[in-house]
Amino acid sequence: MKKEFKEMLREKGRDELPKVLLAAAECAPLSKTGGLADVAGALPKSLAQLGIDARVITPYHRVIKEKYADQVEHLFYFYVDLGWRHEYAGIEKLVLDGVTIYLVDNEHYFGDKIYRGGEAEGEQYCFFTRAVLDAIPNLDFAPDVVHCNDWHTAMIPFLAKTQYLGGMQEDLKFLLTIHNIAFQGIYSYHFVKDMLGVDDRYFTYDALNLNDNPNFLKAGCLFADKINTVSPSYAWEIMTSEYSEGLEDVLLYRAEDLSGIINGIDKKVFNPNADPLLPAKFSRGRLKGKAVCKAALQERMGLEQRPDVPLFAMVTRMTGQKGFDLVTAILDSLMGSEDMQFMLLGTGDARFENFMRAAEYRYKGRLCAYIGYSEELSHLVYAGSDFFLMPSRFEPCGLSQMIAMRYGSLPIVRETGGLRDTVQPYNQYTGEGNGFSFANYDAWELRDTVRRALACYQDKDVMTALISHAMETDFGFELSAQEYARLYICML
Ligand code: ADP
Repeated sequence: MKKEFKEMLREKGRDELPKVLLAAAECAPLSKTGGLADVAGALPKSLAQLGIDARVITPYHRVIKEKYADQVEHLFYFYVDLGWRHEYAGIEKLVLDGVTIYLVDNEHYFGDKIYRGGEAEGEQYCFFTRAVLDAIPNLDFAPDVVHCNDWHTAMIPFLAKTQYLGGMQEDLKFLLTIHNIAFQGIYSYHFVKDMLGVDDRYFTYDALNLNDNPNFLKAGCLFADKINTVSPSYAWEIMTSEYSEGLEDVLLYRAEDLSGIINGIDKKVFNPNADPLLPAKFSRGRLKGKAVCKAALQERMGLEQRPDVPLFAMVTRMTGQKGFDLVTAILDSLMGSEDMQFMLLGTGDARFENFMRAAEYRYKGRLCAYIGYSEELSHLVYAGSDFFLMPSRFEPCGLSQMIAMRYGSLPIVRETGGLRDTVQPYNQYTGEGNGFSFANYDAWELRDTVRRALACYQDKDVMTALISHAMETDFGFELSAQEYARLYICML
């Protein structure tokens, strides 16, 4: 055990590291739609290396059953009461890469999509919440901390503290991680009353309600023992009305218990020196392979075969969050005045997709818009590009900029959330930095920053130094795991 942890534990009068049960709606590689799955998958593995027994509890989604059914062990079952419903809940156990995962089985709720949308999704996760709480006392594992994630599991601390008094281990602590505050789980009084049997006295502004409706994430923010978000900057941003989506009062009230821990990326999956998806490998000291990747990307995407031209890229969901208003505002101005290429890989809002398709037509050979999702192509885009644009309106953590840096593509980001915490802007006087950034959500600031990057591109020494800084920045999950370990110990 690390000396630091030993000392922290001594202050708490304990000698054992906390045991953690991580409750999440999705967990990679079993089920995945976004970053939450990556955290749920990677964090327990890194915690295990620190000596912390962290296990996961997640729904036994159809996609998991299809692939892993022959590897799971049935532990026990019980029935969950959701209003008038009396639903089967099986607890299955799967050990993957040394991590124990408890799967909550119910064909009706988890036999189809991971998220069904609307009230159907609310019902899925009210069931899951209840099943987790009912399962905990019967598991072959007694956690000290239940680590909840986003609104889907945010009602766990609320229900534990209002309905399970005496029925739960008294000193069980609850952590809530907010991965994206834009999703809160807002339902009607009747729905929540029916599903979870919440007492009427909690449907007030002091407890569950926000703007007259019960709000799951708000309940979690009030009743969890500690709250964290996925970057330090996002942690303070969400205490302001600009970013909080209405939750600033609650979060300001809980400010002392709110912190930010940046996510990491899987350094094995994203490794330019051993990536099977690339035509050539490269590393910080040996960048020849990167030029081969750039040529391959240009050829594959119908861009002019020019090693000397700066290639800008985006790999993204095409939504307002990702700063597409800014990109659409300045694209013509840049493409019209600068010698540059642009490669977009993304899908999302039709208006942005159509804009980019039309731009591809206008700038044939210089701009490619690949509308779609392709994990395989994304690796080549990261490896083959010189710069990576991410001018987000808000960004809780952001993984793409970290992946881009690992592949030597210099990020150009807006200073918000995790982008602010991971990208150090180039300082022309000291030579420090691993990318470029701008402060305000403003198209002209983005354009100026792109132009600054273009100027640097002409200076080989500056570029080599910046690429080197970007590639050596450590974004492994080990650092996040240490921060989580400290937080869990603080909670004991
Ligand atoms: P968010 O979770 O908000 O979409 P992140 O930057 O945290 O943004 O993570 C996005 C992840 O999804 C990255 O790994 C990125 O490479 C990947 N991604 C996004 N869009 C695409 C796409 N169209 N094709 C392939 N991968 C994509």
